[in-house]
Amino acid sequence: MRLQCSLVLLIALSVGCAAAQESGKQAGYDFFYLVLQWPGSYCDTKQSCCYPRSGKPAADFGIHGLWPNRDDGSYPQNCNPDSAFDPSKVSDILSSLRSSWPTLACPTNDGLRFWAHEWEKHGTCAQNLFNEHGYFQAALRLRGQLRVLDALATAGISPDGGYYTMGAIKGAIQEGTGFAPHVDCNRDESGNSQLFQLYFCVHADASRFVECPVQPGGRPCGNRIEFPAF
Ligand code: AMP
Repeated sequence: MRLQCSLVLLIALSVGCAAAQESGKQAGYDFFYLVLQWPGSYCDTKQSCCYPRSGKPAADFGIHGLWPNRDDGSYPQNCNPDSAFDPSKVSDILSSLRSSWPTLACPTNDGLRFWAHEWEKHGTCAQNLFNEHGYFQAALRLRGQLRVLDALATAGISPDGGYYTMGAIKGAIQEGTGFAPHVDCNRDESGNSQLFQLYFCVHADASRFVECPVQPGGRPCGNRIEFPAF
């Protein structure tokens, strides 16, 4: 009897997972990018940055967004103009959003503009899976599963203004988290390439990290990558 129940549960679970993946495809995407961002590199540019109203964010990777994406590299955007960001729907997770999804845009603000942009451009394209609260909560949960800074530190890579190779950075994160992200760089004021954003791939049902079906494009980092302090 117990075996039968386990079997029924297993079948129900796999049908559920297949359904979630299928509904992602019907909604126009195949997987998600969870994009994390090093605040030190956002700020260490010609353009500089502004700390949010709540104060300087922690020196840790923050969330940029959770983006539905297709296997061919394209992505849906701004999928539901009738679903404008409503701050009241995330009031219970505001402190987590402030600490883990900090705005760095100028002028100083409370982050609502950044979160509204992410929800409206990307989150509304995964409404098969999430309402607004669920979207932000899923990104927070997924980020919480990655200890990127610890993974880098274990390999002797720290935000000390030093330079590291792409292999060392990816290898350290693969070793510590189980997944090697796509590394996206920006430029400091002197034009040096620096570690800016990490793209991790997430299953279409948002339950777990997966190997990336496709790498995002963009200017390559080179092999001498600065990791600036924050
Ligand atoms: P997206 O359109 O989702 O690709 O995000 C790009 C937009 O997000 C640009 O307007 C960026 O300036 C903005 N952005 C990226 N990181 C941050 C941040 N930490 N705080 C505020 N805005 C940001």
